[in-house]
Amino acid sequence: MPTFLFDKIIFGPVKSRRLGVSLGINLLPVDSKLCSFDCIYCECGLNTGYENKKVSLPTRKGVAGELSKKLSGMVEKNMPPDVITFAGNGEPTLHPEFNGIIDDTIELRNKYCPDARIAVLSNASRLDNKNVFNALLKVDDNIQKLDSGLKETILTLDRPNYRFDLNKTVEQLKNFNGKVTIQTMFVKGMFDEKIIDNTTQEDIEAWLKLLEYIKPGSVMIYTIERDTPFDSLHKVSLDELNKIAQKAESKGFKTLVSG
Ligand code: SF4
Repeated sequence: MPTFLFDKIIFGPVKSRRLGVSLGINLLPVDSKLCSFDCIYCECGLNTGYENKKVSLPTRKGVAGELSKKLSGMVEKNMPPDVITFAGNGEPTLHPEFNGIIDDTIELRNKYCPDARIAVLSNASRLDNKNVFNALLKVDDNIQKLDSGLKETILTLDRPNYRFDLNKTVEQLKNFNGKVTIQTMFVKGMFDEKIIDNTTQEDIEAWLKLLEYIKPGSVMIYTIERDTPFDSLHKVSLDELNKIAQKAESKGFKTLVSG
């Protein structure tokens, strides 16, 4: 039940289940979540109305300054990160200077730790913005959310706060021409007196069909790790995740499982 906010622009390094030793960048407010989705499983908690207000976001200059300081310190201690990850308190691509921040990050990575990867964890809600789309093409790990092949399931689980069009999102994901990883959170439980389960045969079949259409470079599947806003949600077993992964692998997709 108690959820978690990052209270800094640069956080970690943390050992990430999916990415290795990860230095995080939070482009969202440090005191509240800001997202174009309001996923019922969000470990940052629920939206608080910030999305309709003028909020204070870190500046491009501020992010570059903090990142430069942190990377030079890590390299001095001979502990460079495996990956620099844009994640944090919401959707990173909502930042109006996202494209420029990615350019700065690439420059700083090349200067201090050229072997580190740059990853963005995103919910695919801003792919219609050319600057965002092009910025995502520049990073090493462009990781985009697709929680089901069924629109109804996505609406229940992810609760986008804009007019969500699954077909449009799928076309945009396909336009990456394989330079994208699809991330899918599997979860079960109850919400609003409805059964929540995106592991049903119908969901998985539709999801596999969309993967075959999008042709991502890889797939990441995972389940709840920390507390979520609702106690009525629970993890999907590792055994079940592995079975889903086998189905994706049988279609030719390299699939990473985090249980
Ligand atoms: S997309 Fe990510 S940050 Fe946004 S509500 Fe969902 S889990 Fe939370």
